[in-house]
Amino acid sequence: MSVTQIQEEILKLKQEKDVVILAHYYQPIEIQEIADHLGGSLGLSRLANKVDTDYIIFAGVDFMAETASILNQNKKVLIPNPESCCPMAAYLTVDKVKEFKANNPNLPVVVYVNSTAAVKAESDICCTSANAVNVVKRISSEFNAKAVLFGPDANLADYVEQKSGIKCIKMPEKGNCYVHSQLTIDDMEKIRIAYPKCELLVHPECIREVRELADFVGSTGQMYNRVKNNTTSENDFCIGTEIGLMERMAQDFPNKNFHLISEKLICYNMKKNTIELMRYVLDNLDDPMFEVKVPPEIAKKALKPIEKMLEYS
Ligand code: SF4
Repeated sequence: MSVTQIQEEILKLKQEKDVVILAHYYQPIEIQEIADHLGGSLGLSRLANKVDTDYIIFAGVDFMAETASILNQNKKVLIPNPESCCPMAAYLTVDKVKEFKANNPNLPVVVYVNSTAAVKAESDICCTSANAVNVVKRISSEFNAKAVLFGPDANLADYVEQKSGIKCIKMPEKGNCYVHSQLTIDDMEKIRIAYPKCELLVHPECIREVRELADFVGSTGQMYNRVKNNTTSENDFCIGTEIGLMERMAQDFPNKNFHLISEKLICYNMKKNTIELMRYVLDNLDDPMFEVKVPPEIAKKALKPIEKMLEYS
């Protein structure tokens, strides 16, 4: 069966079975094409809060589906491949957060959404790469603190500290995204030479030296809007985030040209979801293998910092 035929079946089945499909920009393009809603972590968290079907299929990685489940505890949230997980989340354990809290008793705890539900439950507020700077400014002022505890991404912590002027103590020192952190100065210099007039856009999960060579630093949603709202005659963009966003923009903005800064920008964890698995889940909506369920006592505690983030965004 061709990809188009599978997509047609999915579109028919999801209507018949009253299922909504949320997909992250880093998903394979054939999954993005059949999603009801597409976005970055912040946009999808907001949408997950408003879904009115009984089933949500979340095409993304585990922490995203967990967040959707926490926000929709009466609905069934399913992930096409239960092994699709974000390795960054493993850098920060509950014990580690407790240790940092014990050593810094008066500081607010800010946890990136790329974390487990149990870690979120130990935090004062969550953030995404789109709202991290605002979240840190507001929570530090609320706590009257000159610093915050921030984890698990050390590069995002560094970016937020630069932008907000508020010290972000990294929990742990070296948490990172293997996709973004492998972009190098050399990659940036080479692409600048290859496309001298091109605007270079990178994600805040990149290392500082790479961010400093970019023209724009932003989340996936911010990069998308930057390209969409561009009114200059310049139509070439070099993209420094996962390839899925570039594929989305290439479809949405056919008159613009896109160049991936490095071929290494592929998140293999995001790509574990496939169009065939999406189709399979639709025939097996009640198979517990695909359900993402957070234990109620953890969900209750994790809901507060997620809702606080949505309120502050
Ligand atoms: S791109 Fe990085 S942060 Fe995003 S899911 Fe993949 S490993 Fe995790």
